[in-house]
Amino acid sequence: MMQWADSVQGIGMTSARTRDRLVDRLKNHGIRSSAVLEQIRNVPRHLFVDEALASRSYEDTALPIGHGQTISQPYVVAKMTEALLTDFAGDKVLEIGTGCGYQTAVLAPLVKEIYTVERIPELLRKAKQRLRQLDIYNVRFRLGDGWEGWPKYAPYDGIIVAAAATELPQKLLDQIAPGGRLVMPVGPSGAQELTMVLRRDDHFEQVSLGGVSFVPLVKGK
Ligand code: SAH
Repeated sequence: MMQWADSVQGIGMTSARTRDRLVDRLKNHGIRSSAVLEQIRNVPRHLFVDEALASRSYEDTALPIGHGQTISQPYVVAKMTEALLTDFAGDKVLEIGTGCGYQTAVLAPLVKEIYTVERIPELLRKAKQRLRQLDIYNVRFRLGDGWEGWPKYAPYDGIIVAAAATELPQKLLDQIAPGGRLVMPVGPSGAQELTMVLRRDDHFEQVSLGGVSFVPLVKGK
C-alpha cells in the first residue's frame, strides 16, 4: 500500500492519518461494521480518481470520474456495503454500475465472487486495470445494461446497484436468490431512498435506509 501512496503527489493527503479521519467520520455517522470500516481504511481511494483530485480523495464526498459519472461518497459505499453484508450468508454478489471500481474494491475481500456490470466501456476498462493492480481477482466484468442484470450467473445472494431508478428493476428482483437481498437507490432525482429488498420464501420485504443522491440507472445500452 505504501508504494501506491508514495507515487501520488501531496502524500500528506493520502496518509494514514487522513484515512483515519475519514473512518472516524463514518463511525460518527453510524457505520458499525468493523470489516467495512477496515476496508475503507485500506482501499487507496486516491487511485480511483484523476490525479488532479487525489488530494480530495479521502474527503467524504462524491467526485467526478468523467463521462458525467461520479465515484460514490465513502459514507454511502460503507452504508450500502454494510446493508448488503449484515447477516449475509452467501457467495455471489452482482454489482450494477462498476464506475471507477471503488465500491468493487471495498467489497471484494468481504465476499467470494463479484459479478460487475457497467455500460461505459472506458470506465469498465480502467476499473479492471485498477483492480488487477490491487491484486483483486474475484471479480468478473461485463459491459452491458444493468437493467438486465447478468442472467448467466444468476441467482445472486446479494445485488448492489450504484445508480438510481424510479422503480425496482423486475429483472434484478428475479435474479435475487431465496434469502438474498438487493440494495439500491430508488426514486426520482432529488427524492431517492436507499432501499433494501429482502427476498423471503414467498414475498419480498422492502426497507428504507434513508435519503441518497445517485446518478440515474440509464435505460438501454
Ligand atoms: N460504483 C461506483 C459508482 C459508480 S456511479 C463507485 O464505486 O464509485 C454509477 C455508474 O453506473 C456509472 O459508472 C454509470 O455509467 C453506471 N450505469 C448507469 N446506468 C447503467 C446501466 N443501465 N447499466 C450499467 N451501468 C450503468
